[in-house]
Amino acid sequence: MSNARKVKKGNIVKIIALFGFIVLLLLYSFFLLKTKFFLEADASEPIIEVVAPAESPEKYEPIDDELRVDDKPTGNIEAEKPAKEDSAPTTEPTKEPAPDPDPVQPTTPKEDVKQEDDQEQVAPKETPAPPSRAVYLTFDDGPHKVSKDILALLDQYDAKATFFMLDNNMKNYPDAVKEMASKGHSVGLHGVTHDKNKFYQSSKSVVGEMDQTQQTLFELTGIESDLIRTPFGSAPYMTDAYKEAVDVAGYKMWDWNIDSRDWQFRDSRYVDSVIEQLTKLNRVNQPIVILLHERPETLEHLPKLLDYLKEQGYEFKALESTMHPIQLY
Ligand SMILES: [Zn+2]
Repeated sequence: MSNARKVKKGNIVKIIALFGFIVLLLLYSFFLLKTKFFLEADASEPIIEVVAPAESPEKYEPIDDELRVDDKPTGNIEAEKPAKEDSAPTTEPTKEPAPDPDPVQPTTPKEDVKQEDDQEQVAPKETPAPPSRAVYLTFDDGPHKVSKDILALLDQYDAKATFFMLDNNMKNYPDAVKEMASKGHSVGLHGVTHDKNKFYQSSKSVVGEMDQTQQTLFELTGIESDLIRTPFGSAPYMTDAYKEAVDVAGYKMWDWNIDSRDWQFRDSRYVDSVIEQLTKLNRVNQPIVILLHERPETLEHLPKLLDYLKEQGYEFKALESTMHPIQLY
């Protein structure tokens, strides 16, 4: 302890001496400049020795205390002045505790294990296929001479669809109707006249045309379908009384929520129209029912529509009588 104190005092003396030296050096330089002598090196050394002890070290005791409070003399201070008193052996060698068993080593493998676990947990989350969305293609006004080609195309996409057919057309293309039924498509009724003045004349005419069409379908396929779509859709001609009449007769009236307007465009624009409407409809939680017609122009651009829907992950399904029908109003 006493040695350490001596060391500190020695430091203070050194500092004071340094300040004194600087002050004197300045004064002496000033003096030399005045007397025009340049012998700084020789003159400085004795001055230090004289001045240094003159200064009281007590001025700096607070600093000394601070030094003491802070910590015991560090190795740096002693290393700076080995020339003076040899205090090397007195300073207790710092006990360097034996290095702890490295805690890093156990932790890193743990982290690795955790990461592996995470990866293992993440991996199966990615594997399930995204939930497929159903889209319901519905073809009106058939059957038609292109019916068989439409059916062949649907087969290529493993697609099911729904056909709302007219009585006379079923009689004209009975094989197409049978093929639709045998391939698992849904067969529905669209009436007889497709004339709004005749079809919507009364509730009796509405139900009567559907009954007749159903009879024809039954004769061809043995199926009694309750799926109907009224000509031009239920709005605005189907009054509440008409709706109640078909309901009482056991029919389920379907409209659509995407009108391709294929009969109007008669080219590939109907596909663009469907895609545009589909984008908006995706925000609505209801089955996607697309209105199409059995027409050559529709068939021509149907692959484009099927490709798009397939790429978007849609599954092509047929309407079922258990579903809640989409209606315009
Ligand atoms: Zn129609």
